[in-house]
Amino acid sequence: MSKVEDFLSKTEEEEIVLAIKKAERNTSGEIRVHIEATSDIAHYDRTLEVFRLLKMFETKQRNAVLIYIAVEDHKFVIYGDEGINDVVPPNFWDTTKNIIQSNFQQQQFKEGIIKGILQIGEELKSHFPWNEEDIDELPNTISKN
Ligand code: CA
Ligand code: CA
Repeated sequence: MSKVEDFLSKTEEEEIVLAIKKAERNTSGEIRVHIEATSDIAHYDRTLEVFRLLKMFETKQRNAVLIYIAVEDHKFVIYGDEGINDVVPPNFWDTTKNIIQSNFQQQQFKEGIIKGILQIGEELKSHFPWNEEDIDELPNTISKN
């Protein structure tokens, strides 16, 4: 894996968008995926920057989650907004991280992202259940740089 364009095929990207839609049927939380080549700053800081650029702070319950991936750097970060951090333990994302990590190590990028997304949906369900008034607050499309 080297380039962002080669990281996922069109079909794989469509499958990921479907996984986001599926996960968001479990929860009012919003999930986004951002993929770029590399970052000049620390990946955690860059994830926060992208979170802001994508206006992911603008959810009613402050419950958006970003999966950030820097393809050339072989790095990913999961970042959840403060509405989530206020109600979950600090190691909340560990299971999701491990799922993505183990798939990525086997070059299973699409699988890792999809399993991670569905896991996030499951994890958020108890804290932020889906309800009838829920709207799709953030686009489900993959963000790329
Ligand atoms: Ca929603
Ligand atoms: Ca959404």
